[in-house]
Order: sequence, then structure tokens, then C-alpha cells
Amino acid sequence: MCTEPAVVYQRNIHRHLCGHHFTAEIERRVADTITLRRMISPGDRLAVALSGGKDSTALLLLLSRLLPAWQNVRLIALTIDEGIAGYREATVRAAEQVACRLGIEHHCISFPDLFGDSLDVLLEGRETQACSICGILRRKAMVIGAGQAGATKLATGHNLDDEAQSVFMNVLRGDLLRLVRNSGADSSGKFIPRIKPLSLISEKDIAAYLVLRNEWTELPECPYTRYALRREVRSVLSRFEFKHPGTMLHLIESKEKIEHLCAGSVISAPLRSCRICGVPSSGDLCQVCLLLQLRER
Ligand SMILES: [Zn+2]
Ligand SMILES: [Zn+2]
Repeated sequence: MCTEPAVVYQRNIHRHLCGHHFTAEIERRVADTITLRRMISPGDRLAVALSGGKDSTALLLLLSRLLPAWQNVRLIALTIDEGIAGYREATVRAAEQVACRLGIEHHCISFPDLFGDSLDVLLEGRETQACSICGILRRKAMVIGAGQAGATKLATGHNLDDEAQSVFMNVLRGDLLRLVRNSGADSSGKFIPRIKPLSLISEKDIAAYLVLRNEWTELPECPYTRYALRREVRSVLSRFEFKHPGTMLHLIESKEKIEHLCAGSVISAPLRSCRICGVPSSGDLCQVCLLLQLRER
């Protein structure tokens, strides 16, 4: 596209790009995703879930660059400190630094504040379920934090790889309900709408974007990922994507087609209210109260 040296080779379309053209393309693709899926409305107070890792850092960076295109939209960064020794200290610090550098209001809340204990303590004896337990509590923490910050929407850094892995995992588990349950599309008004502006950008492209923007930092990996099914799925899908470019996108397209076919049909039990905390729930207790109760026994 120009005479500058290429830094990125896009295998699926056989194209070489220089740093300038590549970063501009990523920004355009994210802006297109936001516009096409109507993710942001004028007047939004947008909370960005900022773990301090590469995806959420890239998301905050991209949104802060793209924001002037939307009227009267404010960004807030929201960090959840789960309490994971030897891992979270460095990433929380990275989150504080990037929010400060970009001049974005930063809120941080911790598991001990919300649930009485750090994740490390809450997990004792059930480390193999770390990611699902942490996920349930983290989602709850994010909703509480976004509410406290007065946010109208919550943006997360989920990328193409994450989304494709989730589709594949739900299929492997036979969990059709979770496959078609679109967390962003909620008409009850009881949940804060969630958006994923990076859901069509690959993990590799996000890493390249950060390197080219001089924002790449080497951080420790969460110690609990070694227990995760996602880790196996990740390596299988990466191999597939390398051999057959487009695999991840095709998985997401399949999910969207199934979602479309299921639209309007009743595939889940009507929501009730949790007996303890009152949030909408499919059972007698919501997942968070169920988890915290199990622990007390
Ligand atoms: Zn160029
Ligand atoms: Zn509850």
C-alpha cells in the first residue's frame, strides 16, 4: 500500500502492511464494529473493564483514540482485583499506570471488599474450577463496580480468539443454551448492557497493535490458567487458524447463524429472582450466592 517497510503479513488475504497502515486499519475495524453493532450511543458513560493485561489495555487505548467521533461519551476504567498472589499486583499497577497516562478516571474494587475474601482463599480445595468460579464472581464485581461508577455500558476486551474459544467450548460441552445466550442483548433492563468492541480482532493483531503503539509490557500469566479447558482449546484452535485461516471467524459466524435461527423461540426457563440477593436468576439462588453458600458449609 506504500513504500514503507512491512511489519505485518496478513496470511488470509496475502497482504503486507507497514506499521502506520496496520494501526490505522485496526482502528478503522474497531470503529466499524462499534458503529455497525450500535455499541455506543451519545451521552454514554462507558466503563471499560481494565485488567491491565494486553486486551483490556488495547481496548482502553483504542476507545480513547476513537472517542472524539462519538458525541458526549465519557470513559471510565474499572479494575477488579481478585486477589491472586504473585500475579495481580503487577497487573493492577499496569492498569493504574495506563489509565493515569491516558487521563481516564479509574475505579478499582477488590474481591475481599465485595465477597469477604481474596480469590486465592475462596478457591482453596477447588482450584480445578478456578476459571469458572472466578468468572462468576468477576462478572458480579464488574456489574457492582459499573453501577457504583454510574456507567451506562460495560465494555470488555474479549477478542476474536476468546469468542471463538467460547463457541467451541460450549459446543464441546453440549451447552446450546450458553451458546445462544447473548449477554449484550437483554430486554429486561435489569442488566447493564455489555459490549465487546474487539470481538473481531485477533489476539495476534492486538499484540502487534500494542507493540507498534509502544504499549507492550511483559506481564505474568494468571497461575490458574493451567487448570483451564480453555487453554487446550486455545492451542487446538490456534493450530487450526494457522493451517486454515478464517477458522475462528467461521466459528463465530456459525454461532451467529444459530442465534438468528433461535431468535424468538423459548430456549430457557423464565428468569426468577435469587432468594438471597434478588438479582434475576434461573434457579432459586443466583450463581454468586450459590458459590458463597457452598463455601460456608
Ligand atoms: Zn503503509
Ligand atoms: Zn443471589
